[in-house]
Amino acid sequence: MAEVLVVVEASSQGGIKKVTLEMLTLARTLGGDVSAVVFGDVSAVEGKLGEYGATKIYNATGADLDEYLVAPKATVLAALIQRVSPSAVLVASSQEGKEIAARVAVKLDNGILTDVVALDADGTATQVVFAGSTIVKSKVTKGLPIVTVRPNSLTPAPAPATPSVEAVEVAVEDKDRLAKVVERKVEAKGARPELAEASIVVSGGRGVASADNFKLVEELADLLGGAVGASRAAVDSGFYPHQFQVGQTGKTVSPQLYLALGISGAIQHRAGMQTSKTIVAVNKDAEAPIFELADFGVVGDLFKVVPQAAEEIRKR
Ligand code: FAD
Repeated sequence: MAEVLVVVEASSQGGIKKVTLEMLTLARTLGGDVSAVVFGDVSAVEGKLGEYGATKIYNATGADLDEYLVAPKATVLAALIQRVSPSAVLVASSQEGKEIAARVAVKLDNGILTDVVALDADGTATQVVFAGSTIVKSKVTKGLPIVTVRPNSLTPAPAPATPSVEAVEVAVEDKDRLAKVVERKVEAKGARPELAEASIVVSGGRGVASADNFKLVEELADLLGGAVGASRAAVDSGFYPHQFQVGQTGKTVSPQLYLALGISGAIQHRAGMQTSKTIVAVNKDAEAPIFELADFGVVGDLFKVVPQAAEEIRKR
């Protein structure tokens, strides 16, 4: 059976993003071997890819891949697909992943499905649309399934393998060199985990009432070893930066524990956190919709509840 190609999503801090492990896990359910495609240095990620079931790694390197945004990567991937004829290609539903997948689909005159949360062996994909209110099943009707996978759609499961590494040489074309990276600034990694990857997320909403009060949210997140998130109302009010927004127009998270502090639970917020394993809400309004979703709810003033919770955690 033909192999499934998984395009590795690199983390800006080196290593790979969790969504790669999710895609490797999904790829294994489709049947056939699982091969990873790595752009750039493979040494730091080879072990992890093997741990999650990659039996082969296609490794493309070269200055063009580094200097010229996504176009060269799409050229390399399209050439690889033509050479190995995989049964499916999985790419992360990130900004870069979606652009690579779209360019490849155009180059190969192939169908594409984006933001997929599940994929059957026959290529039927599941997409969750309209802020999580509608589930759509779709299938590529021309070519193989080129699919972008939404992060946090499934739990990664290890399946140790020892991958072989094959260098991929593809000549990049002049038209791939139309936009160049002029500077790269990697933000210093703080003590907190990355929001989309964290197993605990503590989010604050409009109820937190000010940027200064977000220190309470941060403090609780730090005590729990979690990441900080925010509702759009909190972001729009200038309480917390947009990169931490959870929801339809923000990040999608699916942690083990999600704490919603002063968040009403609008459908657009739910869209980004409703698959969290355990949801705890603190809200002074007993009728707030977030309580329909919460596993545990505290009806109360967050400015009393959060310091008390922090105090209790500190004692342990
Ligand atoms: P509110 O709805 O105002 O709720 C604040 C809550 O805090 C209330 O329930 C209140 O009872 C409670 N509260 C107040 N004071 C306290 C206190 N002292 N202690 C305890 N509780 C208190 N929203 C997102 O979050 N993410 C998105 O990605 C997103 N995308 C959107 C996209 C579109 C196209 C649209 C139209 C909207 C989007 N929204 C998004 C906005 C969304 O509709 C809501 O407006 C937003 O989620 C509300 O944020 P909130 O719950 O913090 O504020």
